[in-house]
Amino acid sequence: EPRYKTKPDWLRVKLPMGEEYKKVREIVSTHKLHTICESGSCPNMGECWGAGTATYMILGNICTRSCGFCNVATGRPLPVDLKEPERVAESVRLMNVKHCVITSVNRDDLKDGGSIIWVETINAIRRVSPETKFETLIPDFMGSWENLQRIIDAHPDIISHNTETVRRLTKQVRVQAKYDRSLEVLQRLKEAGMKTKSGIMLGLGETEQEIYETMDDLRAVGCDVLTMGQYLQPSPKHLPVVEFIHPEVFAKYKVIGLEKGFRYVESGPMVRSSYHAEKHIF
Ligand code: SF4
Ligand code: SF4
Repeated sequence: EPRYKTKPDWLRVKLPMGEEYKKVREIVSTHKLHTICESGSCPNMGECWGAGTATYMILGNICTRSCGFCNVATGRPLPVDLKEPERVAESVRLMNVKHCVITSVNRDDLKDGGSIIWVETINAIRRVSPETKFETLIPDFMGSWENLQRIIDAHPDIISHNTETVRRLTKQVRVQAKYDRSLEVLQRLKEAGMKTKSGIMLGLGETEQEIYETMDDLRAVGCDVLTMGQYLQPSPKHLPVVEFIHPEVFAKYKVIGLEKGFRYVESGPMVRSSYHAEKHIF
């Protein structure tokens, strides 16, 4: 299978365009919101925002963790902004977001891990936009099941938690996280009757065999949906790309993932964990 050293053609980013996108862009900036779409410089912004899907990052934009792939700033976060839930809800309404993905920075500094603001955000959105569907892309809450339970009790339509990479590379890729703890989060969600989803980035040096092992680990905890996309290095300080995976290889992984029993598999160079999120509600 081909290995490429420089960014191949299929990763050329289409610039976001279109009237719908521009309108949304303006709402996001006037409401001082943080979207992962922007902070991750996601290549799918034009498509997703135009289609009524957006990913909000709550609890500020400074993270207590420092994952080697992530472009979010690390440091001591600002105090929790109690008005944030209402602001997010207002923008969901204004942006006419039909499918809302909510994620947050890790707030290991807070006793509740931020879970109370999570729930308030979900409830605020439900008040102003009852039709909007939710995917909550949650952190591991450092294994605090009490905090996890708060999210479960808010019953989002699907809960995602990303393992981000294979077991062997976890230490290097997600410094403060643990592979098995992430699996346990997914397992607990499943035991509570939730629909679950997870994602990994490819191109960090994992082997094909390791990818299949991760698929098996995720299936073993009942994970319903899997996303796989190409890792791109946000800056020279971040982990380097070891390999650009060919689109045909991504296509093969999709077939294998479906054979292993995932209900949906999104697999392609541009796939991000919230890409086509609207299709994963079942
Ligand atoms: Fe935003 Fe996710 Fe779509 Fe990227 S894939 S634009 S992060 S919703
Ligand atoms: Fe980025 Fe999430 Fe890691 Fe924080 S925990 S550095 S937001 S990936």
